[in-house]
Amino acid sequence: MNENEVQKIFEMNNALLNGHFLLTSGLHSPQYLQCALVLQHPATAEKLCAELAERIKKDKRIGEIDLVIAPALGGVIVAHEVGRALNVRALFTERQEGSMKLRRGFQIKPGERALVVEDVVTTGGSTGEVMEVVSQNEGVTVAVGSLIDRSGGTLDQGVPRHALAVLTVPSYRPEECPLCRAGSTPVKPGSRTRPD
Ligand SMILES: [Zn+2]
Repeated sequence: MNENEVQKIFEMNNALLNGHFLLTSGLHSPQYLQCALVLQHPATAEKLCAELAERIKKDKRIGEIDLVIAPALGGVIVAHEVGRALNVRALFTERQEGSMKLRRGFQIKPGERALVVEDVVTTGGSTGEVMEVVSQNEGVTVAVGSLIDRSGGTLDQGVPRHALAVLTVPSYRPEECPLCRAGSTPVKPGSRTRPD
């Protein structure tokens, strides 16, 4: 599966929206990704995550993996399906009072080798927080992965990273937004049930 095929799956599900969007950060962007629209189809989720698992397995730098772990909510399905493909446990962390926690009786044993996954990464912030939880439990993060890397491939978290597609998505401050300058008005993603 190449990047174009992955992008096509997102476009077919109206998950890769092109237009003029107002992000929660307040920035404007010509593109928005709504991964849940792709992952709502279990067979598609399984296929994409199996592909990500395959790339992780082929990377000789990574070696054995004992568990997959992701930040809730966005990463839960990805962790589950990648865990299925690798035949290992799938855990998730949750944000509680601002910090990422391992709850629900999930345990990481000292020395266990973890793969941290997400649906989409932009700054890598959540992945970094999950890596922190892994090391607090004396586990070792051996690789990180996501279906989509929206950073343009610039992230470095000190371990091998894999993504099915790397996108460079520009975002602008409102006063500098060329789309606004061209006379259009930004929309909040999800404020309409279907894109045009
Ligand atoms: Zn704008």
